[in-house]
Amino acid sequence: MWEKRRTVAAAVQAVFWVLLPFVRVDGVRLFAFDLDGNRIHLLGKVLWFGEFYFFLFLSIAVISFFIAITAVLGRVWCGWVCPQTMIPLIASKAGRLFPGRNERTKRAVILIPVTAVVTALLFLLFVEPGAFLPLLARSRTALLLFGMTWLVIYADLAFWGPRFCATVCPYSILQEVLFDEETLVVEYDRSRHPCLLCGACERVCPTGIDIKNGLQRECIACASCIDACSRVTEKKNIPPFISYRGRVWRKKAGVLTSLWVLATAVFIVSHLSRPDFLFTVARKGETAGGAPVFEYSLRNGTPRKIKFRITSPGSRLLGQTEGGLSPYGAASGTFVAGGGEGRGVTIILEAEGRKIVRHLEES
Ligand code: SF4
Ligand code: SF4
Repeated sequence: MWEKRRTVAAAVQAVFWVLLPFVRVDGVRLFAFDLDGNRIHLLGKVLWFGEFYFFLFLSIAVISFFIAITAVLGRVWCGWVCPQTMIPLIASKAGRLFPGRNERTKRAVILIPVTAVVTALLFLLFVEPGAFLPLLARSRTALLLFGMTWLVIYADLAFWGPRFCATVCPYSILQEVLFDEETLVVEYDRSRHPCLLCGACERVCPTGIDIKNGLQRECIACASCIDACSRVTEKKNIPPFISYRGRVWRKKAGVLTSLWVLATAVFIVSHLSRPDFLFTVARKGETAGGAPVFEYSLRNGTPRKIKFRITSPGSRLLGQTEGGLSPYGAASGTFVAGGGEGRGVTIILEAEGRKIVRHLEES
């Protein structure tokens, strides 16, 4: 039965999302936003917001993933991965552990604590796990934001649910463009029409459609109608009238999957192989006496504290030219190069065995 498989998929994803805020590689979280530090923790490395090209690579990898998976597997994301459909599934399954026949009411009640946990997990992607509860205890704004987010998520999942998929979700609209004749979809077998007309498929459909009318935008490929039809038809020893239809491995699948793998590989390799220590320096003008003024920035992508020193052969640097960088920390400052000769200035940064030389021409 497809529902069992979806439940296993939902459980695996629940474990993943619960663990995600706590997993660290070399002290860096696997995935988290650090808005104070202007950076993202990703795959055990720090990605600074200023590193535009990495976000471009990341965006290309994510977009190519959605294009490939949609063209090949249809709405598998919607029915098997999207939190919008998987969280209510978990709540429905949990509701069956309690007495009572009204499944909707039980699900709505169970969604209250479940969406509180979901909201907390969402916040943990922005806040260190150890700082989350103290933050809520000390900041009214954070508490209000938490409460409002919880309310919106709860209202969406408990009351709006799959109507969101059919009306607002932009991904559902995009899918119509990506589908072709062989894309995997849930389909009613019209060659055997009419079926037993029991109506079971309509009753279980979370989006309230009748799959017998053909493929519709509202269908999230959850396969609940296949299960419902199977329960009816197996009593008569005939195959169900509804099933998954499509061809997964074909030329289009190969091309799109290869493009996605390539885009992901480019991002991962460039992300993991980029230097863990960044130094930029630029001329910002000059003093009243004509001496050049420089502005620099340093970023430490290592879990170690680093001491740095900036020098310039032939020049005397006045300003902040020495200091320490905390693990995964950043620093910036200005200095004036005085007493130099010639048209250019050479700036040398030394930090824990690293030596980075920049030569800046006078403008
Ligand atoms: S038609 Fe079937 S697969 Fe599509 S949403 Fe309804 S129950 Fe799920
Ligand atoms: S569940 Fe199967 S037999 Fe019953 S109405 Fe739907 S398609 Fe027909």
